[in-house]
Order: sequence, then structure tokens, then C-alpha cells
Amino acid sequence: MNGKTVMACIDAAYASLKEHTDEIALLDQQIGDGDHIFNLLRGMEALLAVRTEIESEAFGPALDLAAGKVLSTVGGSSGPLFYSLLSGMSKATADNAMDVGGFARFFSAGVDAVSQRGKTGVGSKTMMDVLIPVARRFDELAAVGASARMILDALPPVAEENMLATRDMLATKGRASFLGERSRGHIDPGARSSQIMIAAVCARLAQNRA
Ligand code: ADP
Ligand code: MG
Repeated sequence: MNGKTVMACIDAAYASLKEHTDEIALLDQQIGDGDHIFNLLRGMEALLAVRTEIESEAFGPALDLAAGKVLSTVGGSSGPLFYSLLSGMSKATADNAMDVGGFARFFSAGVDAVSQRGKTGVGSKTMMDVLIPVARRFDELAAVGASARMILDALPPVAEENMLATRDMLATKGRASFLGERSRGHIDPGARSSQIMIAAVCARLAQNRA
């Protein structure tokens, strides 16, 4: 795990988001202002533009570099939130081993940072409804000694199930909350984009372990 791995994950997430551009744009048109996927793609493209720098760093510094780029290029509410995810993960690399348990803690630390930044937990119909259950399952599996391969197979279905569950929720945070009851019946765009990125990253990392 190093800057090259970070970049491979970014490539995988970018390719999958690109494939789902129209769908995510529509979701954010339904309950937001339509810009979510374009905010994300702009951030990812800024990361692709500094590929060599990211690839030449160690794992933690590569995440930190990516975090800074995301903060300066992704607009909307999601820019500072994804910055918090990446920088929270990067900071946690200082005092955790680069093993399965360490990765669970990096991810949890990143998700905690997003939660603090956005002042949101589960149930508000946001990306937290995907990120928090995935982080919890990751911790639980690491605690019982699950292999990396088992974890990479287990997390995407957790993300998917929780992304789908945002459809019936009432939005109480972010732009969608302005719609009140009318926010029900639509999947949250940030939950969908997070789920897509989690699925893509897990699939990419599983290739290394096939
Ligand atoms: P904006 O809402 O400013 O247009 P984006 O469209 O980029 O920003 O992102 C919208 C997504 O951000 C939502 O779908 C939701 O998942 C997420 N979001 C909004 N507010 C919060 C929050 N306080 N905490 C976590 N996620 C949030
Ligand atoms: Mg938006």
C-alpha cells in the first residue's frame, strides 16, 4: 500500500463515477441542485492531473496530498466532506499499522472526521448513511480477524443496502432538507456516489489479492 495504490483506487473510483454520471446528476436534480457528480468529477480530474506526485508518495502522505487537492477543487457541501475523509484517514496512518486492523481504523477515523465536519450521523439521508455502516462493518470484521479478501467482498453489499435505504428517508441535512417530505422517494446522490466509489475501490483492491 503506497501512493501507487492510492492512485489505482482513484482511477477505479473515477471510471465508475464517469459511467454513472447521468444517473447521479439526475438524483441531485431531484433533491438538490444537480451539481454533485460534476463537483466530484472535477475533484477526481484534479487528482489525475497530479498522478506522478501522488504515486511517488507513501500511503499517508499520498492521501494528504489528495485531500488538499479535493478541498481546493470540489465545490458544494461535498468538497470539505471528502477532504475530511481523506485527511482523517491520512492522519490515522501516523499511529496505526499498515495491516487489516490498521486500515479499518484509518477508514473509521476518516468517516469520524466527515461526521464532525458535517455534524451528521446516520438517518439524515446523506453520504453518512453509507459511510458509517461500512466503517462499522469494517471494524467488526477486522476485530474478528477477517482476511482482506473477505472484507473487500463484504463491504460493497453493506454500502449498497444502506444506499438503497436512503430512498425512503426524510432529508434533514444539506440542500435536500429544504424539500421536507418531498425528499422521500429519491436516493440521496451522495449516498449513491459514496457507494459507487466503495464498490469500485474494493473491486480494484481485490484484484491485487486474487
Ligand atoms: P451541495 O448540496 O452543496 O450542492 P453536493 O451536491 O456536492 O453539494 O453534495 C450533496 C451531497 O452532500 C448530498 O447528497 C449528501 O449526501 C451530502 N451532504 C450534504 N450535507 C451533508 C452533511 N452535513 N453531512 C454529510 N453529508 C452531507
Ligand atoms: Mg448539489
